[in-house]
Amino acid sequence: MKTILHCDINNFFASVEVILNPELTNKPVIVCGDPENRNGIVLAKSQKAKECGVKTAETLAIAMKKCPDAILVKPSYATYITYSKKFFNICFQYSNLIESFGIDECWIDITHLVSKNKKEYIIAKELSRRVKNELGLTVSIGISFSKTFAKIGSDYKKPNCITEITVDNHQSLIYPLPIETLLNVGCSMKNVLHKFNVFTIGDLANLPEEIVVKHFNKNGQDLYLKAKGINDDTIESIFDKKNLPKSLGNGCTLSEDIFTYSDASKIILALSQYISFRLKAKNFLANGVKLTLKLSNLKVISKQSLGNNSFNSADSIKFISLELLSQIYNLGGSSLGIKAITIHMLNIQSININQLSFLENLKFLNNLETKVFDIKKKHGYDKLIRGTDMENNINLKLQKIEKEKFFSFQVFDVDF
Ligand SMILES: [Mg+2]
Repeated sequence: MKTILHCDINNFFASVEVILNPELTNKPVIVCGDPENRNGIVLAKSQKAKECGVKTAETLAIAMKKCPDAILVKPSYATYITYSKKFFNICFQYSNLIESFGIDECWIDITHLVSKNKKEYIIAKELSRRVKNELGLTVSIGISFSKTFAKIGSDYKKPNCITEITVDNHQSLIYPLPIETLLNVGCSMKNVLHKFNVFTIGDLANLPEEIVVKHFNKNGQDLYLKAKGINDDTIESIFDKKNLPKSLGNGCTLSEDIFTYSDASKIILALSQYISFRLKAKNFLANGVKLTLKLSNLKVISKQSLGNNSFNSADSIKFISLELLSQIYNLGGSSLGIKAITIHMLNIQSININQLSFLENLKFLNNLETKVFDIKKKHGYDKLIRGTDMENNINLKLQKIEKEKFFSFQVFDVDF
């Protein structure tokens, strides 16, 4: 039987903000796009803000009602990446078998480290202490024989806690939890399961196997095994090429349809920045972009562009997406607006040694981009505008954008 840890940095963005500005310690902090105008959505929150009921992705207006004293800060994406890499470096000192689940959490197979004298709890405790001492961040850790149970374990008690889910205690700890606690159980799956009187993880685990085989599809059968903790201990190492995602993307459903190229370009810029941040955090490059639009009449149109060069900068993603936008939809020439925009990065690759010469160039571009971002952050987004953007009449004044209604979108991950 394997021993797997699931480590999750507590309130990652907000905790890094507290490190950058210690005066925020023990205060309710909300990381959001537009602190000055009290607009936009909650990207992350500190423990104190969480205790007031603030939730990620809700609008700032709602969050501020729950927590009027919250201190609002802008995201420092470049610094989050630095901390994420330091966190993974610590994890790699325990095992090479690590599966990333976002920039601030991962599974670690520590089977080889466990012995009579060194129990898994001691190893988890040491890892947690190292992250605290070396980075100033706290983690919650779940320990189990299955990935699903380890993940539930890291969520079970937070912050700065360790929960062991063992063969002996898993039925009492896991089985009473609602079925949607399991990864990948969305609304439609939940409704299907409810029809079989499955409301908790235990209900699913205790279903007769013949019912599962007869009525469930492949996803349902996988879920059944996960609920039982069976066949769920293979770490898909981030070093293994076959485990790279086919694509990585983000999309947003707009609170109001948009009708102009200028408005669409603002959304595309925000999505490009966020996707670039995710690619950089995982050391990924991509060499294609797919843009998908959902129109006012719910029709979905998309187009992709594949190139010879790989990239991860927000500039490149934005540039190609805008090009695709102009090719697939004539915004000015239609009475239909855009309801949702999604950008997928295609042909994801890990950055490797063969790309070094290219990387020099990339590094320069990315450094430039980071510096531009820092200047904008410090002096205001409207203080530095690219010549090309002015020529194309693309308004990059983010502060202005976020005042407008449509910007209160919910960004969702659409990796597959
Ligand atoms: Mg986390």
